[in-house]
Order: sequence, then structure tokens, then C-alpha cells
Amino acid sequence: MLGKAGVDSPEVEAERLVMHVLHCQRADLYAAPERSLDQRQRKRFARLLARRLTREPLQYILGEVDFMGLTLSVSPAVLIPRPETETLVERALEFCRHTFAAGTPLRCLDVGTGCGNIAAALATYLPHSVVVAVDCSSAALAVARANLGRLRLGQQVRLVHADLREQDFLQKVGCAFSLVMANLPYVPAPALQALAPEVKDHEPLLALDGGPDGLDLYRVLIPLLPQLLSVGGAFFAEIGEGQGQEMRRLLARAGLVDIAVLPDLAGKERVVFARKGREEAQ
Ligand code: GLN
Repeated sequence: MLGKAGVDSPEVEAERLVMHVLHCQRADLYAAPERSLDQRQRKRFARLLARRLTREPLQYILGEVDFMGLTLSVSPAVLIPRPETETLVERALEFCRHTFAAGTPLRCLDVGTGCGNIAAALATYLPHSVVVAVDCSSAALAVARANLGRLRLGQQVRLVHADLREQDFLQKVGCAFSLVMANLPYVPAPALQALAPEVKDHEPLLALDGGPDGLDLYRVLIPLLPQLLSVGGAFFAEIGEGQGQEMRRLLARAGLVDIAVLPDLAGKERVVFARKGREEAQ
């Protein structure tokens, strides 16, 4: 049924729904293959399946997702964290390991935090650092707040309601960050219609629509980087295929150095890196 509805891995997803209904792990299903659903469980499964048949994302139905080993709640108020964003965070963590002595207290900024996945991963894997996590959506911030609370990271991450496009942005978030991370909306508006139904019909447009070429919000953020970053501090941003060249241009124009475009696991350009060099210190 799921296969006919256009779902990519119907068996895996059906299994996940059964596990959800039975509150069990995958191994439990195979340890007791004769086990069947009782009537209540069958009804519940049918309800969840009906939702998935409308191409509602599995993660919204289950209500949670795994991101870098952390379990995070998600709702339609936030974009579902993608495996590609793990590449973004891994690159940033690698940079920090190579650049700063272990245990150095860093100040990190996550612009457009959504469900708080990047902020939670930074706080977890850089336990001596503090993170400022910003979003312009208060509904998203409520999801992030719940996630950080559940992961006991509330002390380490400060959530800020601010809009990059407003005058008071810098004042609200602060400056002198060693690390600025951003997974801003970057889907070019003309490409929105071609996205999978799970994405275009269910995920928040606010977190996807990046304007005519997808880079509208990066065009607002990048000129602020010399103020947001400390000298030597790094910027890591997620982008889509074909956006590397324009990002390089924007970053160079803002005076950043060591600009690089890095691929994701599928070999597509996905991560943009740049640093604030010494010369901007004056
Ligand atoms: N990676 C998302 C997608 O494929 C886009 C995320 C974003 O715009 N930040 O739809």
C-alpha cells in the first residue's frame, strides 16, 4: 500500500509504524515473529498508516527523529533534520577539534535553529561551549526549547527569538562567536513545486523557501558575519547543489577568507566554510 502511494522504502516504514504501535525495537519484531497486533493496536496502526498514505512524513507521525545520536521531537512547525545536516555539524566539530585545544570554551551561534538539532549537537559534542540558537518562528523555538530541556542542555543553549532581516538582530544575538552555523532556507522558489509531497505539502515553507535563487537569507546573513565572528572564527552553512559559486562570491565580498565548498555523502555540494581573517580585526 505504501509502495503504491509512492513511499520510497515501504517495508522499512511499515516496520517502523508497527514498532511504534508495539513500543518495541526492530530486534523484538524478529525475536517473536508470531506476535500479532491486538485489535486496539491494529486500529492504531491503521490510523498511522492512513496518515502516511497521504504522504505525511514518517518523522511527524512518529513525532521524533534521530540526529547525531540524539533523539529530537519534531512537529510540522519545524523542518525535519536531514542526514546532510549531520555532515554540516561533523565538519564544524572537526574544525573545532583541529583549531582549539580540547576543553576550550567556545561561543557558538546557530541561525535558524528550527527544532534545535544543530544547537543540541554542538552543545553535546562541545560540552565546554555555549550556544546561542536563534529562530524567527516562535513555534519552532517552542519545539527547540522542549528538545533542549529533555536533553538537559537548557543551561548551555540560549534561545533567542530574532529575525535576521530586522535591525535589532545583532543586538539580540550578540557577537564574538568562534563558530556561526546556519541551515537557512535555501530551496529556490521555482524548485519548491518539484519537491516530494512529504516536503512541499507538510514541512514549513518558511524553512525551505530561499527566494528566487534560494540564497535570499544568506545574502542578509553573510554581510553580518564580520560583526558576528571573532577573529579566526568560522562560518559553516548548508546549501544545495549549484549554490557554491554564488556563496563563494558573497563570502569573499564580505571579506571572509579560506572559503571552501564541501560535499555531502552523496558527493553534492552541501557545506560552505569560511573564516574571519586577521585583516578584518581592524
Ligand atoms: N535539504 C532540504 C531539502 O532537501 C532543504 C533545507 C533547507 O532549505 N535548509 O528540502
